[in-house]
Amino acid sequence: MENRKENFSEWYNEIVDIAGLSDKRYPIKGMNVWMPYGLKAMQNIDRIIRTNVDSRDFQEVSFPVLITRDQLSVEFEHVKGFENEVYWVTRGGMDQLDVEMALRPTSEAAMYGMFSLWVRSHADLPLRIYQIVSVYRYETKHTRTFIRIREIHFFEAHTAHDSYDDAERQMDQYREIWKNISHELCLPYMIDQRPDWDKFPGARYTLAFDTVLPGGRSLQIGTIHQYGTNFSKNYDIKYLKDDGTHEYVSQTTFGLSERLLAAVVGIHGDDQGLIFPPAVAPIQAVIVTIPSKSLDVVPYAQAILDELKAAGIRASLDTRDNYTPGFKYNEWEMKGVPLRLEIGEKEVSGNRVTVSARTGGRRRQIDRGDISRSVPELLEEVAGNLRARADEHFRKLSRKYDSIEEMKNAQGLVLAGWCGSRDCSDAIEGKLELGALGFNHGSEASEKCVVCGKDGKIAVFSRSY
Ligand SMILES: [Zn+2]
Repeated sequence: MENRKENFSEWYNEIVDIAGLSDKRYPIKGMNVWMPYGLKAMQNIDRIIRTNVDSRDFQEVSFPVLITRDQLSVEFEHVKGFENEVYWVTRGGMDQLDVEMALRPTSEAAMYGMFSLWVRSHADLPLRIYQIVSVYRYETKHTRTFIRIREIHFFEAHTAHDSYDDAERQMDQYREIWKNISHELCLPYMIDQRPDWDKFPGARYTLAFDTVLPGGRSLQIGTIHQYGTNFSKNYDIKYLKDDGTHEYVSQTTFGLSERLLAAVVGIHGDDQGLIFPPAVAPIQAVIVTIPSKSLDVVPYAQAILDELKAAGIRASLDTRDNYTPGFKYNEWEMKGVPLRLEIGEKEVSGNRVTVSARTGGRRRQIDRGDISRSVPELLEEVAGNLRARADEHFRKLSRKYDSIEEMKNAQGLVLAGWCGSRDCSDAIEGKLELGALGFNHGSEASEKCVVCGKDGKIAVFSRSY
C-alpha cells in the first residue's frame, strides 16, 4: 500500500479502489460507480445531515433533473456562472427539442419558479426545504473520485425569509448545523468568506467550510450562501405584507456533497488503510473468530453479534476459516472498521472478548456481560481519538505567516494579512501559486496586507482541489 504522507494522491486513489468505495472503470470520467461499502458510508453521512435539518423544520423535497434554458436564464449572474459547466439535452428520441433542457448543475432554477407560486403571505415563511440528489457539472479538469466529479451526490437546502435579518439568522443556524455534522465526521475546518469573484453565482456572499488534506491542498467541504433578494427579484418570489404591499423574500442555501466522504477518507486514514469515524462506518464493530480444534466458537460469537445489533451497533461477524486471523485483521483494518472483537477458544472459556481499536492503543479484555455497554463507550473513544489526531494535523497545516518571503514554502491553509484587492491576491497567486480562499470568518483584527502593506484582515490562501 502507498505511503499516505509522501504520496497522498496515489494512496487516495488506491484506497478508494481496494476498500470497495467506488469503481472508477466506468467509461465516462468523473461519473463514479458507488460500490456497496462506499454507498453505505455515504448514506450514513446523508443520515447525519438529514437528522440535523429535519430537527430544524426543513422539509425534504425532490425536484426534476431537467430545467429549461429559460428557467436557467432568469438570473443573469447565475446562468453566466454555470455556462461552461452545463450538460444540455437537445434531442428527445429522433426529435430535435424546441426548448433545450439542462441537467441541473444546482437547483435554484428548478425550484424558484415554484417558490413564486408557493409563497403568498407571511404564513408561508420561512420556507425551508432540502433535497439530496445528483447534479451534473461538465468538469474539464482532471477528475478525482469524490473530489472533482461530473455527477455530484448533492445535498442542497434552500430557504426563503420575510427579511434579510431573518435570512442572516438562517446563516447562523447553518453554521450550527455544520458544527454538529463536522463533529460526527470528526473533521476540523475553518470558515472563509470567498472573495467576490469566487462567490456562488448570484449570491451576495458565500461562506465556505475549508479543510486540508495530508498532501497540503485545501478542500472545500461545504458552502452556505446569502442571496438576499438577488434571486427573488428575478424569479418574482414575494409575499403580501400586512400593509397591503408586496415584498421580495430574502433567500439562503447550504450545499454539501460526497466531498465529505473524501475528507473522511483523506484526513483519518493511515498507511494501513481507512479509518472511519464510528458515525460514518458501515461496520462499527467486526467480530472475527479464531478457529479452534477443540471447540466451536461460532455460537458464542453469533450470540454477541445478535446482542450488539440489538443495542443498535452496526456489527458484522467474520467466520471465514479459509483465511488466517491475521489476514482477516488486516482486511478489516484496511476497510477502516473502528473496533475489532476477537473470539477464540481463550475468550469463550474465559467468558470474555478481546477488543482492539483501529486508532491503536492496547488490546483490551471485556467481560461477556459488559459487551453492549462497553462497545458504545469504546466507539466514543475512537471518535475522540480521531478528532484529536485530525485537529493536530489541521493545526500543523494552518499557520499564520507575516511576509511573502515566509510564505514561499508554506503548506496547507496559509493565513496572512490581505487588503482584499484582486491585484494583491493575483500577486500572491503569481508568485506562490496560492489561491485566495478569502477572509477568515471571525478574524476581525486589523492586519497589514503582505503585498501592498495597506490595512487589511487575516485571509487564507492555499493550493486547492
Ligand atoms: Zn494589498
